[in-house]
Amino acid sequence: MPDRAPQPVDRQLPTDEARDLISLVRDIAGREIAPKAAGEEDAAHFPREVFTLLSDAGLLGLPYDSEYGGGDQPYEVYLQVLEELAAARLTVGLGVSVHTLACYALAAHGAKQQQVEHLPAMLGGGLLGAYCLSEPSSGSDAASLRTRAVRDGDGWILTGTKAWITHGGIADFYTVMARTGEEGPRGITAFLVPGDAEGLSAAAPERKMGLKGSPTAQVHLDGVRVGDDRRIGEEGQGFAIALSALDSGRLGIAACAIGLAQAALDEAVAYVTGRQQFGRPVSDFQGLRFMLADMATQIEAGRALYLAAARLRDAGRPFAPQAAMAKLHCTDAAMRVTTDAVQLLGGYGYTADFPVERYMREAKVLQIVEGTNQIQRMVIARHLAGPEGR
Ligand SMILES: Cc1cc2nc3c(=O)[nH]c(=O)nc-3n(C[C@H](O)[C@H](O)[C@H](O)COP(=O)(O)OP(=O)(O)OC[C@H]3O[C@@H](n4cnc5c(N)ncnc54)[C@H](O)[C@@H]3O)c2cc1C
Repeated sequence: MPDRAPQPVDRQLPTDEARDLISLVRDIAGREIAPKAAGEEDAAHFPREVFTLLSDAGLLGLPYDSEYGGGDQPYEVYLQVLEELAAARLTVGLGVSVHTLACYALAAHGAKQQQVEHLPAMLGGGLLGAYCLSEPSSGSDAASLRTRAVRDGDGWILTGTKAWITHGGIADFYTVMARTGEEGPRGITAFLVPGDAEGLSAAAPERKMGLKGSPTAQVHLDGVRVGDDRRIGEEGQGFAIALSALDSGRLGIAACAIGLAQAALDEAVAYVTGRQQFGRPVSDFQGLRFMLADMATQIEAGRALYLAAARLRDAGRPFAPQAAMAKLHCTDAAMRVTTDAVQLLGGYGYTADFPVERYMREAKVLQIVEGTNQIQRMVIARHLAGPEGR
C-alpha cells in the first residue's frame, strides 16, 4: 500500500516566508515523495530526481548564506522542513540532512575564494554531497582514522578507505577527513574531493535492515590527487571541523526522527479508529488510547527539544549538549513510537502491506548514525562532569 501524504502538523513558524516554505515542502512531499516511498524502498531505489527537484526548489541549501545560493533560513525553519521530508520518506529527509552536513565544512571554514568557486553548485546547482569521517576500524573513535593525505608538490595525495558513507558511489562531492600529521585529533585535515576524481571508487552498497533506498557504501581513495585549493581550513583543523559539523548534523537527525515517529503515529491513529473488534473500534480500548497518548507526548517533547536547541544555535549561543540531548531523545522516541505503531496494527503491522514495519526498521539506524546514542550520552555527561579520566 502506498504511504499516505503526511498529516499536517500545526507549526509555529517565525515568518510568512517560512510558512510558504513548509507549504511548498508539503506539496512536494505529498505529490512526489510519499506515494513512491514504499515501492522504491522495497526496490532499494535512490530517488535522485527528487533531490534534483529539491535543489531546483532551493531546498538543498536552506541554512546557508544566500550570497552563495543558500536559503538564509534559521535552523528552526530548516529542521522543520527536514521533519516534513522525513515524514514522507526517511531516505529523502536523511539525505538532505547528510548533504547539508557535507556542505558545512566549506560553508563554515572555507576560504572566500573556495566558497565562491564551489558553494553555489553545492547549495543549489543540483550537486549531491557525502560526508566521510567513519572508516572500517574507526567509528565512535573517529579520531583514530587512518586515511592519509600526503603533500605532493602543490597538492595532496589521499589514500585509504572510508566506511558507511551515505551517498557513497553516487555523490558529486565528498567532504573527506584525512590524516596529515600526528596520531589523534590534531593530525586530521578536511578536503573537498570531487566525485569523479581519479582513484576514487565505491564498493557495492551495504545490505541494510532498512533505509534501503539510501545507498551506504565504502569509498576507496586510491592515490586520489587534489590541489591544495581543496584543503578546507588549516592543516590539523579537520577533526574540530568534523565535530562542529556533527553538532548541527545531529539536530538534523533529531528532526528526521520526529518526522518518522509522526508518520508512524498518524498511521496508527488512522488504523485503530477504523479497525473493529468486539463490536467497536479498537481505539475505544483504554490500553490503546494510553499508548497513543504516550506516543504523541514523546513526539511533542522531541519536537520541542530539537527546536529549543535550534533556537540556541540561531541565536549564536552554544548548543552542542542540547543537540546531543535532542538526538538522543528524538531517536529513542522514534524507536519506541514506531515499535508501538506495529503493535497497534496487530498482525497487519508486521506485514509490508502497511508502512509501520518499515518505519520501525528505519528508526533503528537513527540511534546509530552521527554518533551512537551511547556517544550522545558521553557528550552530555562531559558538559556536566568534565572529560573522563581527569
Ligand atoms: C546507514 C548508515 C549511514 C551512515 N552514514 C555515514 C556517513 O555518511 N558518514 C560517516 O562518516 N559515517 C556514517 N555512518 C557511520 C556511523 O556514524 C557509525 O556507524 C557510528 O559512528 C558507529 O561507529 P561503528 O559502527 O564503527 O560502531 P563502534 O564505534 O564500533 O561501536 C560499537 C558499539 O560500541 C559502543 N561504543 C563505542 N565506544 C563507546 C564508548 N566510549 N562508550 C560506550 N559505548 C561505546 C557504540 O555505541 C556501539 O554500540 C553511517 C552508518 C550507518 C549504519
